[in-house]
Amino acid sequence: NPGFTQITGYSYEEARGQNPRILKSGYTTEEEYADLWQTIMSGQEWRGEFQNIKKNGEHYWESVSISPIVDEVGNTTHFLAIKQDITDKKGMETQIQQRNRELVFLNRTTQLINTTLDLDKVLKVLLRETQQLFQVTGCAIWLLDDVGENLICTQILSPQSDGLLGFRMPRDAGCAGWVVEHGRSLLIDDVYDNPDCEVFGDNAARSFLSAPLQSQMKILGVFQLMDEQPRRFSNHEQRLMESLTAVAVTAIENARLHENLKQQFEQLKQAQSRLVQSEKLAAIGELVAGVAHELNNPLASTMLYSQLLQIKIDDPALMRDIDQIVTQARRASGVVRGLLDFARQHSPERNPTLINDVLKSTLDLLAYELRTNNIDIQLQLSSDVPITMADPHQLQQVFVNLINNATQAISEIKHGGHLSITTKMGRPQFYTDNDTDTFVIRIIIHDDGPGIPPEMQARIFDPFFTTKAPGKGTGLGLSVCHGIISEHDGHIWVASEEEGSTFYIELPIVEEVPIVNNESTGDTGDTGLLTNPDAEPSARVLVIDDEDSVRKIVTRILKRNGFQVDSANDGIMGLEYMHDVKYDLILCDLRMPGMGGQEFYKHAAELRVDIAKQIIFTTGDTVNPQTRQFLDEIDAICLGKPFELTDLVTTVRTRLLENGAIVPAI
Ligand code: ADP
Repeated sequence: NPGFTQITGYSYEEARGQNPRILKSGYTTEEEYADLWQTIMSGQEWRGEFQNIKKNGEHYWESVSISPIVDEVGNTTHFLAIKQDITDKKGMETQIQQRNRELVFLNRTTQLINTTLDLDKVLKVLLRETQQLFQVTGCAIWLLDDVGENLICTQILSPQSDGLLGFRMPRDAGCAGWVVEHGRSLLIDDVYDNPDCEVFGDNAARSFLSAPLQSQMKILGVFQLMDEQPRRFSNHEQRLMESLTAVAVTAIENARLHENLKQQFEQLKQAQSRLVQSEKLAAIGELVAGVAHELNNPLASTMLYSQLLQIKIDDPALMRDIDQIVTQARRASGVVRGLLDFARQHSPERNPTLINDVLKSTLDLLAYELRTNNIDIQLQLSSDVPITMADPHQLQQVFVNLINNATQAISEIKHGGHLSITTKMGRPQFYTDNDTDTFVIRIIIHDDGPGIPPEMQARIFDPFFTTKAPGKGTGLGLSVCHGIISEHDGHIWVASEEEGSTFYIELPIVEEVPIVNNESTGDTGDTGLLTNPDAEPSARVLVIDDEDSVRKIVTRILKRNGFQVDSANDGIMGLEYMHDVKYDLILCDLRMPGMGGQEFYKHAAELRVDIAKQIIFTTGDTVNPQTRQFLDEIDAICLGKPFELTDLVTTVRTRLLENGAIVPAI
């Protein structure tokens, strides 16, 4: 009938005499045909749907009802088929199913990528799910780097993707670059038709669909699908891809935020522990400074009295005993000096310093020690390390300490070992106002000794923490190092390695600012001890010190050396003496109850204008910045207690010689 002719395209003449077989598309299964035949041969009506083929080869769907027609005796003579073209309805149905699948996919993918905050996992899930939905040969995610200059292939899923993971290209390169620049998706039906189009991905791929990963005007990167078939993607798929990237971008941003937060939290934790460490050290430092000060005066007396005895005594047995006193007093002074170093209140003296040179000279200094301990040194000093303003002596103290510790640690477990010292430039490990341009000097000292157990690492910078035998270690070395590096605005920390210990130091690069540095030196030249007091004219010296024992012994020693000495126990008394006598030299303690050294100087300067040339200060403390400034301003000499007898006499004589109060011994 005309309906048949219209649906199938076969004319009446063409259809006539044919079997319905001419409509078979091959999509109906044998089982369906068997069911059809069984139903109609048993005299019943069969209903179903066929996907058939028209005369022009086009497929169409029909809904069919087939019934047998029987004669009077019940034999099936004909069949009657009533058919309706349902191609449009079927198409709609397929589309709805497809949309459904896509919705389920979007929903599932959203859930999956939002269940983790791990960026790597988010990207992997995204690619896996997308590949399954689109059934493409490959897909990749390109993310912009921190500074937004390059696109990096951060994740890829493709049989041909070898080597592309991590690939970096300028942000405007290729199709991905176009997407970044325009903020729109791009569909390339066939790369063969677009020879100018540069695509990075699956070598065999012909079709590319790229969509921007874009959040509130900011582009994070590009999501790319590729397939070996040309014209593989429809406009509908392009839109689906755009919806997908909208979901993906939120998950990526969340994961990145989380990573950022985690990092900041870590940095805060480190900053906090460094703060606690600094506060702890500062508190102990104050205590230590007080104790050291109290020890310096008795130590000065012990040293000077015993050295005076050494001069006076001839008995060899007694001499040996006194030698012991002097040796032990020197040892105690060493410990006190260490304590004061640790409690140091002054800032480092900043001079243009080449860290590499400081390291080299430290190694020269320790060459013998290292050689006898059979320590092999690997020195890797980067020539990029610039000059920085630092205190080379203090830094040398740090390096000596670290290298000595390493040598001792190695020697504990074996005879000989390896020590590597590296310098290089790097980004700061620690928090610095997020300044991405900052570079720091990094010094790495690694030894292959026994290492430091993790539970001990937190304590090694504490003062007095030592695992060494009494007399071998004071436990102050690393806390002094910590103090010095902190004063340089740097950081020092230790890392546990599989083998040995690694100490890291980070120092800022400080540019030189021209300053005038009036360091008064204690350099006295060599004038020797006066052995014959009568040989020189007798200069008049005033000794001002509140410590009885120090004042008395200093007075005695100076008298023994032929000087006329008066002594006063504070500044006020000293000033009274000055009214009556014109002294050639005044030896004055800086810290005294009542009137201290600085105040005394102020009043004394009113009596004698040129007093600065005639004064030597003594002190049991480290010199704090204010006192240092005062000494620099008046260009005065300061002798640190405990001083040795020779130091005292030499310094006094040098000053007197400079002032012309005495003449050189012949
Ligand atoms: P000291 O050397 O006087 O003990 P430090 O403050 O310099 O004081 O060191 C503290 C402790 O840290 C040492 O006693 C030692 O246990 C440990 N230590 C330091 N450096 C190393 C190292 N390179 N290898 C192993 N342990 C070390």
